[in-house]
Amino acid sequence: MVKINKRLCAGCGNCVEACPFGVLQIKDGKAVVVEPEKCQKCGACMSACPNNAIKMEG
Ligand code: SF4
Ligand code: SF4
Repeated sequence: MVKINKRLCAGCGNCVEACPFGVLQIKDGKAVVVEPEKCQKCGACMSACPNNAIKMEG
């Protein structure tokens, strides 16, 4: 699943918009994984992130 580096995340919301499966949300100004089981590992969120704050793990 995807992992957000909170230190790099600027809370822009690009990844939330990019994810077709509603996996991510912004909470307290940072992206968080709210529906990890829905992630299809498509990589769209990673491509959309301007700060390279999203990595794939596992
Ligand atoms: S890899 Fe794809 S499905 Fe998973 S969180 Fe990112 S955009 Fe959503
Ligand atoms: S696109 Fe990157 S910087 Fe923007 S909210 Fe998502 S993880 Fe954070």
